[in-house]
Amino acid sequence: AAHKETHGFQTEVKQLLHLMIHSLYSNKEIFLRELVSNAADAADKLRFRALEDGSLYENDGDLAVKISVDKEASTVTIADNGIGMTRDEVIANLGTIAKSGTKDFFSKLSGDNAKDSQLIGQFGVGFYSAFIVADKVTVRTRAAGTDAAEAIEWVSEGEGEFTIAEINKPTRGTEIVLHLREDEKEFADAWRLRSIISKYSDHISIPVQMWKDEVPESEGPDGEKIEAQPGEWEVVNKATALWTREKSDISDEEYNEFYKHISHDFTDPLAWAHNKVEGKTEYTSLLYIPSKAPFDMWNRDQNHGLKLYVQRVFIMDDAEQFMPTYLRFVKGLLDSNDLPLNVSREILQDNKITQTLRQGCTKRVLQMLEKMAKNDAEKYQSFWNEFGNVLKEGPAEDFSNREKIAGLLRFSSTHADSDAQTVSLADYIERMKEGQDKIYYVTADSLQAAKSSPHLEIFRKKGIEVLLMGERIDEWLMSHLTEFSEKQFVSIAKANLDLGDLEDEESKKAKEEAEKEVEGLLERAKTALGDKVGEVKFTHRLTDSPACIVADDNGMTTQMMKLMQAAGQ
Ligand code: ADP
Ligand code: MG
Repeated sequence: AAHKETHGFQTEVKQLLHLMIHSLYSNKEIFLRELVSNAADAADKLRFRALEDGSLYENDGDLAVKISVDKEASTVTIADNGIGMTRDEVIANLGTIAKSGTKDFFSKLSGDNAKDSQLIGQFGVGFYSAFIVADKVTVRTRAAGTDAAEAIEWVSEGEGEFTIAEINKPTRGTEIVLHLREDEKEFADAWRLRSIISKYSDHISIPVQMWKDEVPESEGPDGEKIEAQPGEWEVVNKATALWTREKSDISDEEYNEFYKHISHDFTDPLAWAHNKVEGKTEYTSLLYIPSKAPFDMWNRDQNHGLKLYVQRVFIMDDAEQFMPTYLRFVKGLLDSNDLPLNVSREILQDNKITQTLRQGCTKRVLQMLEKMAKNDAEKYQSFWNEFGNVLKEGPAEDFSNREKIAGLLRFSSTHADSDAQTVSLADYIERMKEGQDKIYYVTADSLQAAKSSPHLEIFRKKGIEVLLMGERIDEWLMSHLTEFSEKQFVSIAKANLDLGDLEDEESKKAKEEAEKEVEGLLERAKTALGDKVGEVKFTHRLTDSPACIVADDNGMTTQMMKLMQAAGQ
């Protein structure tokens, strides 16, 4: 027998395996979806590599997934003729989790299976889901372009380790044998597997085949001869790229499952938009908004972007050129008829077509969000709660869509005085006082601090609504958002706050008199404070507090100053 090596799983893999087996018992059948999804990815990758080197096909270009069952042995085998894996790839892919932030993710687990199974949904289980139903998994794989003798056999019981051995495998690709657990033998049933495939994997674009047994010759009811049928591989899915089909022919379930395939997410998406564009540029886009933020959304080097196809051929994952950064939560794909098949990331970088596609996709996403906000406020709110802070990066990044993005923002405000960010700028404008032509807001370190800002006093007294902002990103947002619907944004912390027509004649007079009464006070304060302040002024904006610090009109707000100080400026 060949030399066998034993390797230990990375700690996180062990944790994942344990968690999965204990929390996904109500959703066991997804193992097949994950393995078929991987086989389809492997076919995509081979097709892409073969664009440059056709010999990789080794005269076997009909890419497919074959699923077979051995009832006696209680095994299910999923075999593909895709790209396969080298020894190093097997060790890396089937022994570690190659996602950034994985350690962090596992440190958040509570030990409560119900709660953790939610989290695991966000994380995705992929290949390791094989161990939900199997107590032993054998993987035999040969990478495209390598010798039959360089194939690898990986075996594990899913506990703490796996073995690796070199084997001889004449066929290219990967074969996964699941040795079913004692109480999961129900899966050693072709009909059961078929129904799982049509439920989860119908949209997979390569054929998923199952073996149909031969039918021996027999006699019909009138003694006529019925011919024998040889056994054969039968295609059991639609095997058409989902996005090339007509929208009206695709069910919500199919859209949901397709999302899970391309996003490696586990939960249904919140919304999607599927569009075919014809004319000067021709492309199809299928864009999804996930329902949950990924655990690593704030990780700067997290993978994002769309899956890129050119004329149905998979080209790359995570093509981030087609989505602005503030929409990095969007998942989906783009199939272009105009880009060359040999397109690379470098070519994409400075490309007119890329620009057009990016603008088109951005528009689709913003439209999808607008529609959601209009038709399903509750859904939109759940989107906002997950991704609102990312969308706030929009006005700074995307000048041309500034107004549209602003319309999608939600704030907390003095109107309801609640912490929930539910107020749109349109809501605000609708409630504006007569004579009010500005949108007032306050930024602070926290929402609590914003709420108790002394600058609010006069606004509360006059019943003028103020937007309350306490997130880190808000100051940045407001430095790029100057107006909405032709109404200027005004920070109530600015010195010469002119309430304009909201001020009445009578109170103006009263103010002048009051200022006279304390003549000399300003001078004294100024002398006492010296260089510490730029100026000391009267204000009538405070009703309860005696004094407050404000920012210069043209200068930075105090919040921005603090940010700069923190950054060592
Ligand atoms: P994901 O699909 O999200 O990358 P998985 O856990 O499902 O994660 O798979 C891990 C990796 O193992 C894949 O990214 C791929 O590189 C490799 N892999 C899994 N199954 C196959 C297969 N059938 N053929 C080739 N590579 C595979
Ligand atoms: Mg996978």
